[in-house]
Amino acid sequence: MGHGELRGVVALDGPSGTGKSSAARKLASALGARYLDTGAMYRVVTLAVLRAGVDPADAARVAEVARSARYEQAADPGASTTTLDGVDVGADIRGPEVTRAVSPVSAVPEVRELLVARQREIIADALALAGGIVVEGRDIGTVVAPDAGLKVYLTADAQARAQRRARQDHASGRAATVDATLADVRRRDAYDSSRAVSPLRPAADAVELDTTELDLPGVLAALLDLVEQRGLRVAAVRG
Ligand code: C5P
Repeated sequence: MGHGELRGVVALDGPSGTGKSSAARKLASALGARYLDTGAMYRVVTLAVLRAGVDPADAARVAEVARSARYEQAADPGASTTTLDGVDVGADIRGPEVTRAVSPVSAVPEVRELLVARQREIIADALALAGGIVVEGRDIGTVVAPDAGLKVYLTADAQARAQRRARQDHASGRAATVDATLADVRRRDAYDSSRAVSPLRPAADAVELDTTELDLPGVLAALLDLVEQRGLRVAAVRG
């Protein structure tokens, strides 16, 4: 595989609805880099927990499911596929049941330990293969990749985030009102920010980017500028 234009890791963190996923995918595509959606990994473990009939609040049994579940997350910006037992579960992991249960599951220390180790492996492979990777989540700059060449913490006001999430749900054929989505966004923010292990917070050296007034091309342009400023972009090498 030829090396893309990004050298190293770009960490994109922040709460849901800030435009993180779309921006991360576009940034990775624009730079010929790999792309890792770590939220999808917490979601697929949550789906396994629900399918096993385990209560998401039962930390010991959740950890057991996380240890034995067979899931894969592709690190491709063109096809960020998530599988469970070899089957594509991309739609199931975005459904309301998983969205409701994902915060307690992702607060279990052993789940985080397992997934962070897996994420570091995927990042190391991507760096060897493509030279660069854009990784999005909640704890990438603080825990998963503290040496990332660029860390960006995306924010946006809660109303704007709920509107984006509701639009995404509608586009995917899921009914959702802005009010219900706003309540969900606030609940997950509170849970993710207050958990004991790796709470959602910006790394000390993260650049904060408020996307409330920005559309996707605007966010992408801001990110590309930061990548250039850090000297992380090189001419593509074929080989
Ligand atoms: O990004 P997404 O909304 O798909 O993430 C789903 C949930 O997974 C978050 O609300 C959070 O609880 C958890 N998560 C996490 N750490 C990450 C990524 C996601 O705890 N790095």
